[in-house]
Amino acid sequence: MPRKKTKKEIKQEALTRVRKLFSEAWERAKEGEFGLADRYVKLAREMAMRVNLRLPSELKRKFCKHCYCYLIPGKNCRVRIAKKRVIYYCEKCRKFARFGILKEKKAKGVRNG
Ligand SMILES: [Zn+2]
Repeated sequence: MPRKKTKKEIKQEALTRVRKLFSEAWERAKEGEFGLADRYVKLAREMAMRVNLRLPSELKRKFCKHCYCYLIPGKNCRVRIAKKRVIYYCEKCRKFARFGILKEKKAKGVRNG
C-alpha cells in the first residue's frame, strides 16, 4: 500500500501541476490559441481549488479574475501602472484587476499573526 501523502506534499504536487498548466497556457497563447489558453487557466484553478491551494501572486496576475481568461498584455489586456499598482484591463469582460507591484509587497514585510 502506498504511503499516505501529507497535505503539504499534495499541495506541492498541485502547485507543480498548476505551474505546468500555466506554462502550457502561455505556449497556446503565443500561438494565438486563446481559447485553449483559457482552458488551461480553468484547469489550473480547479486543480488549486481541489486542494485549497492559494495561487502564487505571480500566477494570479496571468489571468483575469473576473472571466478567468489568460491575459496577454498587448493582446487581450492593457497594462497600466498607477500609484505603485499594476492595473490590468481585461478586454474580454471589460473589467479591471489591480495588483500590487511584487517587490513593493516584499519590502513592506507585512506579517499578521
Ligand atoms: Zn476578464
